[in-house]
Amino acid sequence: MNDSKKTVHATVLGYPRIGAGRELKRAVEAHWSGRLDEAGLEAAAAAIRSEMLDDLASAGMDSVPTGVFSLYDHVLDTAVAVDAIAPRHRRETELASYFAAARGDDTAAPLEMTKWFDTNYHYLVPEIGPDTAFHARPGKALAEYREARERGLDARPILLGPVSFLLLAKATGDAPSGFEPLDRIGELTAVYADLLSALVEAGADRIQLDEPALCADRTEAELEAVKAAYEHLNGVAELLVTGGYGPLGESLPVLVEAGVPGIALDLVRGRVDIDVLESLDVSRETFVSAGVVDGRNIWRTDLLAAAADLERLHRVTDRLGVSSSCSLLHVPVDLDAETELPASLKERLAFARQKLREIASLAEAGAPRLQRPAAPDDWRDETVRSRLAALPEDADRRVDYAERVAAQGELPTLPTTTIGSFPQTAELRKARAAHRRGLMIDADYHARMRAEIAAVIAEQEKLGIDVLVHGEPERNDMVQYFAEQLTGFATTAAGWVQSYGSRCVRPPILYADVARTGPMTAEWTSYAQSLTDKPVKGMLTGPVTILAWSFVRDDQPLADTADQVALALRDEVADLESAGTAIIQVDEPALRELMPLRRDGRGAYKAWATRAFRIATSGVRPETQIHTHLCYSEFGDVIDAIADLDADVTSIEASRSKMEVLADLDRADHRRGQDQSSARKLRQVGPGVWDIHSPRVPSAEEMAASLRLAVAAVDPKRIWVNPDCGLKTRRYEEVRPALANMVEAARTVRGELA
Ligand code: GLN
Ligand code: ZN
Repeated sequence: MNDSKKTVHATVLGYPRIGAGRELKRAVEAHWSGRLDEAGLEAAAAAIRSEMLDDLASAGMDSVPTGVFSLYDHVLDTAVAVDAIAPRHRRETELASYFAAARGDDTAAPLEMTKWFDTNYHYLVPEIGPDTAFHARPGKALAEYREARERGLDARPILLGPVSFLLLAKATGDAPSGFEPLDRIGELTAVYADLLSALVEAGADRIQLDEPALCADRTEAELEAVKAAYEHLNGVAELLVTGGYGPLGESLPVLVEAGVPGIALDLVRGRVDIDVLESLDVSRETFVSAGVVDGRNIWRTDLLAAAADLERLHRVTDRLGVSSSCSLLHVPVDLDAETELPASLKERLAFARQKLREIASLAEAGAPRLQRPAAPDDWRDETVRSRLAALPEDADRRVDYAERVAAQGELPTLPTTTIGSFPQTAELRKARAAHRRGLMIDADYHARMRAEIAAVIAEQEKLGIDVLVHGEPERNDMVQYFAEQLTGFATTAAGWVQSYGSRCVRPPILYADVARTGPMTAEWTSYAQSLTDKPVKGMLTGPVTILAWSFVRDDQPLADTADQVALALRDEVADLESAGTAIIQVDEPALRELMPLRRDGRGAYKAWATRAFRIATSGVRPETQIHTHLCYSEFGDVIDAIADLDADVTSIEASRSKMEVLADLDRADHRRGQDQSSARKLRQVGPGVWDIHSPRVPSAEEMAASLRLAVAAVDPKRIWVNPDCGLKTRRYEEVRPALANMVEAARTVRGELA
């Protein structure tokens, strides 16, 4: 490095936008309930933005991102910026339209919501048709840019790029078949040129366009679209294009060829991009933002390793930046708010504010570059490690499905069940909170939970359900509940990150070797079983889902960490079994979420993810029936992995897709039948017949119609009857009639089969 004081430009690709104290949540929820008017909401939003700018400016960033704030979701903001709001969501004011699109109302269903790449953030899916009339609406981008400029900051507006916007969108319902949103890239690029011009006119000398979709495999045609769009937009503004979710890979040469003057690399998960860049003929004038600080996780950066990457990039360019790997949207705001974390853990962590300081110090020539210290010895658990080493490679159940199914208890054809949770009432939440804060003694708390379990069992018996659940009243969250009881996990006091809109989650931190210190669920399940002659299903959260919804140590492969969690669950499964639980469900709703964005990583992922599930579940006797649950119906690439879980019963979401999923299952079965290398298949399936995401109560006839489709597509002996997902967010007023209708539907179709 040369000897001028600063050789590297310090910046960050985005910042948490919920406020350090979740002010966004409070403000928007007050607005929705009518307690805060538009002006009040705008004032609260301005205060959050002001705090963000304070953080960025005081940490010594050379330039600060603007346009990062959002009242709900940045993809929806982009739809507004290009005027792609569906006619059904247009209301009196822009704000009312915005929330109609986000949340729906009496007259219009909201936009669909889905996961943002391989994260637990959810975005709203724009609907684009051949006739969507794009126009530039730069108001928000301009206002937020000016706010930063008025403070004398070097501001860099951020927009979601046009290619990713269209790739994240879906076609409107009335679009002709074969139409894809990306068909509109030409017109949309022209509108982006207008947006960029407006920002340039206001003084912006660099604009960041986020193209996270370029971190997944892209077709030739898509890469052509990237090239054409960026050749066009380059002429309008000085651009910085980011990926942020892994290597840009084959998109990187395309961006270079298109002459993009600034590129941000994710050097946490996409370090191979340095090699690609070195092999390309890149102008030394290209601005390269080195994303060495992890935007997805909360561990302190290894500054020594980061400095080495910066050194390498210095040989490629004269204009080097240091930054986060992606927006800091996915990490909590401030580690200083955590006063209860063990010191040896806390000193290894960095939340958003601490990450800014790391970036600033990496940009500072002469600042110390410390290597990250190794984990302390007492974070290791040799017992866990040697037990895992002794497990068989395949971790399969000892007995084949055919033999298992013969040994498992008799149930009626089309057995009815639920996914696990029953409504979480305000009263239950209050009891859990009081117990946590020490305001309710253990004995009272247990009595309260037992009373709830007894009520839930009575409800199900009255409804005539075949396989019962205890209702999960003791669980605040399906991951945190286990994290609180396992070693190797810590939970935060205020480590909130946005999940969607006003909803935030507090992921636990998995920092050390994981072990179980005692039974976690058996007490509640056994109590429930003691109240009924019907089988009660035990409920656990699977290893992949526990990892996906936590901040996980990054000093060993995820596969190794998954195995440790799986081993703890295996012990829990054994306890449930010996306490007399004949059916055990291990939920893996995040199996698809952790799937690598690029094809070449998927085989290895599926192998370790499914093995971890089998470690958790394969220790049981043949008589014990293993269930799993997945919260989606687009199986695509995961269907083989689902079969490799080797569960006896799999419940899936299907009601919204009208059971189309069954045809997929059938195809997959046939494919696997020919594949001699694998004998595993999806066994019994419970395609959800009730969409629990909606307050609507489906009629018995409607659910019977779904079941008829199911028994027509798949051997009726393989079909279970259940809702799409757990009932915790529903009210008893909906749950009672809907479950009664579900049971009636099962009886009707049973009768027709007989
Ligand atoms: N057993 C959990 C429940 O019913 C499953 C939740 C989920 O799949 N997200 O709540
Ligand atoms: Zn679910």
